[in-house]
Amino acid sequence: MQFYLDGFRGGDPDIKNAAQGRRDRGPHAPLPEEVDVLIAGCGPAGLCLAAQLSQFPGIDTMIVDPKPGPIEKGQADGVNTRTMEMFQAFGFAETVKRESYWVNQTAFWAADPEDPAKIRRIGRVQDVVDGSSEMPHTLINQARVHELFLDVMKNSPSRLEPDYSWAVRDLTIDTTTEDHPVSVTLENTGVNAGETVTLRANYVVGCDGARSNVRKAIGGELHGDAAHQAWGVMDILANTDFPDVRQKCLIASATEGNILILPREGGYLFRMYVELDKLNPDERVSSRNFTASDMIAAANRILAPYTIDVKQVVWSSIYEIGHRMTDRFDDVPAGEDRNPRVFTAGDACHTHSPKAGQGMNVSMQDTFNLGWKLAHVFQGRADPSLLRSYSAERWAEARRLVDTDHEWARIMSAPPGESELDGSDMPRFQKQFIENLEFTGGLAVKYAPSALTGTDTHQALASGLEIGRRFHSAPVVRLADAMRMQLGHVAEADGRWRIYAFAGKDDTSAPGSAIHKLADWLERDPASPVVRHTRVGEDIDAVIDLRAVFQQTFEDLAYEDLPSLLRPIKGKLGLQDHEKAFCTDHKGAGDIFDLRGIDRDRGCLVVARPDQYIAHVLPLDGLGELSAFFAEILRPACAG
Ligand SMILES: Cc1cc2nc3c(=O)[nH]c(=O)nc-3n(C[C@H](O)[C@H](O)[C@H](O)COP(=O)(O)OP(=O)(O)OC[C@H]3O[C@@H](n4cnc5c(N)ncnc54)[C@H](O)[C@@H]3O)c2cc1C
Repeated sequence: MQFYLDGFRGGDPDIKNAAQGRRDRGPHAPLPEEVDVLIAGCGPAGLCLAAQLSQFPGIDTMIVDPKPGPIEKGQADGVNTRTMEMFQAFGFAETVKRESYWVNQTAFWAADPEDPAKIRRIGRVQDVVDGSSEMPHTLINQARVHELFLDVMKNSPSRLEPDYSWAVRDLTIDTTTEDHPVSVTLENTGVNAGETVTLRANYVVGCDGARSNVRKAIGGELHGDAAHQAWGVMDILANTDFPDVRQKCLIASATEGNILILPREGGYLFRMYVELDKLNPDERVSSRNFTASDMIAAANRILAPYTIDVKQVVWSSIYEIGHRMTDRFDDVPAGEDRNPRVFTAGDACHTHSPKAGQGMNVSMQDTFNLGWKLAHVFQGRADPSLLRSYSAERWAEARRLVDTDHEWARIMSAPPGESELDGSDMPRFQKQFIENLEFTGGLAVKYAPSALTGTDTHQALASGLEIGRRFHSAPVVRLADAMRMQLGHVAEADGRWRIYAFAGKDDTSAPGSAIHKLADWLERDPASPVVRHTRVGEDIDAVIDLRAVFQQTFEDLAYEDLPSLLRPIKGKLGLQDHEKAFCTDHKGAGDIFDLRGIDRDRGCLVVARPDQYIAHVLPLDGLGELSAFFAEILRPACAG
C-alpha cells in the first residue's frame, strides 16, 4: 500500500483526502437537479460501481435505494476467488479473508443404497484447485460485503454515500442531446412517501434487482426458464450430530429432497438451502405458506439419521428464482447505431439459482467491467463508444452463466438414482461439480477479441496469461525492498491500465538492455502510448502503469540500473516511486516465469485492463503494435 505521495498526513491511510466542492448530503439538503451518473440500487452491483466511481471526484455520482438504510443480514453469501481478487483491488480482501468462512472442501452425501432412509457421505472434493488463484473461496454475509463497499465510498475523495428512501420510478432518454439526456423520476419511499422529483443524468445504471424499473423503462424483458424454482434458505445457529456441518455439503436424500449446507463466518453460524417444489409460472411461493419451522422439519427428514437442533434462526427467506436474462444490457435496440446512456447490471438483467453461488459475484463483475469505462469517458480519455463494449462483453458471460446454472440445477434436482451413480465410480453431481469449478470460481470468463482484447498472435510468449482472461497473479519479490508479494496486487481499482514487462533471461535492466530500451521509449518517444495518452501535469503513470519483472534474484540486480520510468518522480512533492520493479521468487513460492509459461529467452509484454483482464500479449519490441492497440481505445492526451 502506498500513501503520503502528496505529503504526510497522520491517521488511517484508507481515508483519502476529500475533494473540494462535494455535494452536501446532509439530512435536509436538496437533491441535485443534475448528476453525471445515477445508480439505481444499493445491492452488490450498485455498490461496486459506486465504490469504483467514488475514486473519481470529478464524476458526480449519485446512488439511490428505496430501503431506509443498508441491509443487515441475508441474501447471498458466496464470494468466489475471482471476486476476492477484485476485493484486493478495492483494498478489503484481507478483511474478508480474516472474517469469512473459507470453503476448502465440498462434501457430497446421498441415500445409502443399503438403507435408503439414511444418507451417507459419498465423496469429497477440494473446492479451490491448487494454483488457480492466490485467493480463497469465502462465505460471508452479503450485508458485510455491502458495508465494505460503503466504507470505500465514504473514505474516497468523493465521500460518496447513498441517498436512501428514493426509488427510480421511471426514466426517459432524449436522444437528440448530449447534455444530461436521461430524465429520471425518483419516488420517495421514506417519510415523504409518494413525493416525486425529476433529475437529469448523463448516464443511468439500473442495479435495481430482479424487478428492475430501469430494465422496464428501457424495454428490457427477462427471457428464459419461466418455471420458478423456490428455495427455502435460513441462516441458523444450531447443534447437530451431522459430522460435516463445517464443510460445504450437497446432500440428496432418497425421498425427502435435497439440501445444501454452507458454513459461515464466525465458526457457529451456517446456512441451509432446502429445495422446494417447482412453482407453476403464475404461482407465487407465498401461496405455499412455507415457514422456517417447515424448513427445519424438512432438514431433519433429509439429514436422517442425523438430527439438527436449531437454537436461533438468524434469517430466513423463501427465495424464488428462474434462469432468465434480457437480450441486451443497455438501452440501444439491435440495429440502432448510437452510444448507450442507460445500462442494467446484476439481477436486473440476469437471474439464476443460488446453487452455483454466482448471483452476488457476477453482479459485481458486471459493474467492475462498466466502472472504468464510464470513468474513461468522463475523464475524456476515451470516446463514449467504449461503453458499447459493456453489454457485448457481459451479455456473453451472463449467457454462459445462465446455461451452466441451468444444467447444474437440472443435475442437482434429478430424481435420486439419476443424480447419483451413473455407472461410473463417481456420482454425476460430484463429477459436474468438479467440471464447474473453474466456472464457479469466476475464473472461466474470457472476453472475445475486440478493440479491448487483442489477437493471440504472440500468445505463446506467455501461455499461462491468456488474452481475454483475468490477469492470473503469481509470486514475485519487489526489487527495492525485497518484499515477497503477489504481482497482481499492484493493480488497484483506480481505472489505470498496466503493462507488465517480463524481461528476457540475461536482461538485468542495464542501459542498452531490452527492458531499458522499452522503458526509455515508453517515457520519451512521441509514438509511445504513455506519452500520447498522459496529459501535461499528470503523473507519468496516471493512465498506463509500467511494471517490470526480472528473472534474476534480488541479490543479482542493481536497483540503480533501472531506467527512470521504473523509478519515476511523482506527485506534488516530486517523490520517487520505488515499487515498479520485481524479480522472481527463489524461495519456494514459485517462479512467475514457469508458473505463467513466460518465454524465458524473449520475455514479453502483458497489457492488463483496469478491470484486470488481459488485453494483449506482445514481444518486448512490439512497440508499433502496442501504440496501435492503445490508440484504438484512448484519445490523444491533447484531445482530452
Ligand atoms: C430476498 C433475497 C434473498 C436472496 N437469497 C439469495 C441466496 O440465498 N443466495 C444467493 O446466491 N443469492 C440470493 N439472492 C440473490 C442475490 O442477493 C443477488 O443475486 C445479488 O444480490 C444481486 O445483486 P444486485 O446488486 O444485482 O441486486 P440486489 O442485491 O437485488 O440489489 C438490488 C437493490 O436495488 C434496490 N431497488 C429495488 N428497486 C429499486 C428502484 N426502483 N430504484 C432504486 N433501487 C431499487 C433494492 O432495494 C436493492 O437494494 C437473494 C436475493 C433476495 C432479494
